[in-house]
Amino acid sequence: MSDGQNPIWAQSAGKRQAAPKLRQDTSTEIVVIGGGLSGLSAALHLARSGRSVTLIESRTLGWGGSGRNNGQVIPTLAAMEPDGMVKRYGDLAEPFIHLVRDSADYLFDLVTKHNLQCDAAQTGWFQPAHNPDYLKLSEARMMAWQKHGAPAELLDKAACDALLGSTHWHGGMLNPTGGHINPLKLVHELARVCAENDVEIFETNSGNAHRAQWRCLARFNTKRSVDNGCGVACHQRLYRPIGSAGPTLFCAGNGVAGRNQTAECSATAKHCPPPPGGFGYTR
Ligand SMILES: Cc1cc2nc3c(=O)[nH]c(=O)nc-3n(C[C@H](O)[C@H](O)[C@H](O)COP(=O)(O)OP(=O)(O)OC[C@H]3O[C@@H](n4cnc5c(N)ncnc54)[C@H](O)[C@@H]3O)c2cc1C
Repeated sequence: MSDGQNPIWAQSAGKRQAAPKLRQDTSTEIVVIGGGLSGLSAALHLARSGRSVTLIESRTLGWGGSGRNNGQVIPTLAAMEPDGMVKRYGDLAEPFIHLVRDSADYLFDLVTKHNLQCDAAQTGWFQPAHNPDYLKLSEARMMAWQKHGAPAELLDKAACDALLGSTHWHGGMLNPTGGHINPLKLVHELARVCAENDVEIFETNSGNAHRAQWRCLARFNTKRSVDNGCGVACHQRLYRPIGSAGPTLFCAGNGVAGRNQTAECSATAKHCPPPPGGFGYTR
């Protein structure tokens, strides 16, 4: 059984040893705030690029969407087609389109590279059409993605029936790079590899506690951090360090650093310029 507080993944992911609570000042180059897939991936890649990284999770790793989602690995976007992005953002859209296009392969390669035990299956991602009009939309989407190099295919009704074992659908778009993972297992495995790469992880809840506990241990006064010249990130965007003091803060997740927060524990660090080429999504 699963409910909003206790996702089914928590029952299949097994026990893990909880990371310790942050109880004292610590020293690091980069602080990643939030232990979901974004934070763990950022921490892992930063650590592997030679940075000293501390990750702080206010509840338990995977507590947010990362431990509760469907586990579909979807190399496309729900909202805007590639053509729509180009129309709106011009040349800026192309790197993002490529990132989305290659995202599933990237994840499955990461799984293979680090032997992440997360029930990964690169069996493709299929979006069936529930009526003939929707099939036209599928075809338009398929062509738009093909134009940008994605291996998207259109399955007709017969192929769709054979794939799904159901005659309910009218066909649809298949991207063979997609697939499925157990998202909470992926979280746990990324945490394992982070630890192997010397990422220091702190979390507030014990091990697999997915029930909400509203006390937040790691709090930062974002305004003061900015005044001090630290980088502060909100909504997965990194604000680069302005001055010379303080750690880079990388807040990973859906707006984790947007509120007025005071520092119960502080992380002191030496100045850390962004890595060559930046972190990607900056402003
Ligand atoms: C119902 C549902 C189904 C979905 N299905 C899919 C799917 O099939 N495939 C897919 O690719 N995506 C899916 N998604 C989207 C996906 O879950 C999210 O995009 C992803 O989990 C975001 O990861 P994240 O690390 O950015 O954020 P989160 O997983 O939300 O992680 C943020 C973390 O930050 C922590 N935190 C918050 N505030 C603080 C603080 N002040 N200090 C320290 N830590 C803090 C939180 O506790 C949390 O653990 C789905 C989402 C939902 C809601």
